[in-house]
Amino acid sequence: MRREIVAGNWKMNMDLAQTESLIDELIRTLPETKAEVMIAPTFTSLYRAFQLLRTHKIEVVAQNMHFEESGAYTGEISAGMLKSIGVNTVILGHSERRAYFGETDEILAKKVNTALEQEMEIIFCFGEELEDRKSGNHFKVVASQLKNALFHLPADQWKNIILAYEPVWAIGTGETASPEQAQEMHEFIRKTIAEVYNDDLAQGVSILYGGSVKPNNAAEIFSKPDVDGGLIGGASLKAADFGAIASAF
Ligand code: PGA
Repeated sequence: MRREIVAGNWKMNMDLAQTESLIDELIRTLPETKAEVMIAPTFTSLYRAFQLLRTHKIEVVAQNMHFEESGAYTGEISAGMLKSIGVNTVILGHSERRAYFGETDEILAKKVNTALEQEMEIIFCFGEELEDRKSGNHFKVVASQLKNALFHLPADQWKNIILAYEPVWAIGTGETASPEQAQEMHEFIRKTIAEVYNDDLAQGVSILYGGSVKPNNAAEIFSKPDVDGGLIGGASLKAADFGAIASAF
């Protein structure tokens, strides 16, 4: 049985007061779901979110971290700092980090290593751009993103990795990969992992889909056999939408 997860990536949204009110609403209204539910607020809201959800089943996760443990890296946050406020999971490799903040596969491999050394769990994002899909290179691009950032890891480290396939052309665009496109890629990802490691490991890794998941398409996407949940951007900012998606399993 793989873990089923619905994670809300709040991106650069929600100040402290908005964080408090959205969490309050989530606590009051989140429907029953068999999925694990996570939210990723901004750094300035993270500790407050953790405090508010300390006794609740929603897990608070970070959107990013630096690979160094401390030192002269103005503006950055380390894994140890996240752990010191109770945050044990971090999103790495989001396409916005790659596109706007120059995060390469090489940097991401270092971040992955640091997070795992610190015994953190990682939601690792990757996915092709529109040109890659148009030119039929999407499988190749995804395989190389995985290889460059993750395939150096020994098999036993994979227990702390959650994958999030997010085709860049579907993020924030309202255009979702069809459930069939998501399934096809998730199956390919599992096959690729099985070739490098083994089938047991590949079958155990949770692979989330991300990119314009909404209440009206979540159930169909999640019903695909190799889709184990979603990483939700825009729709995670409204408690009702996020709740509807979380209960779409
Ligand atoms: P979206 O974002 O749901 O707004 O498309 C998903 C993501 O970037 O994680």
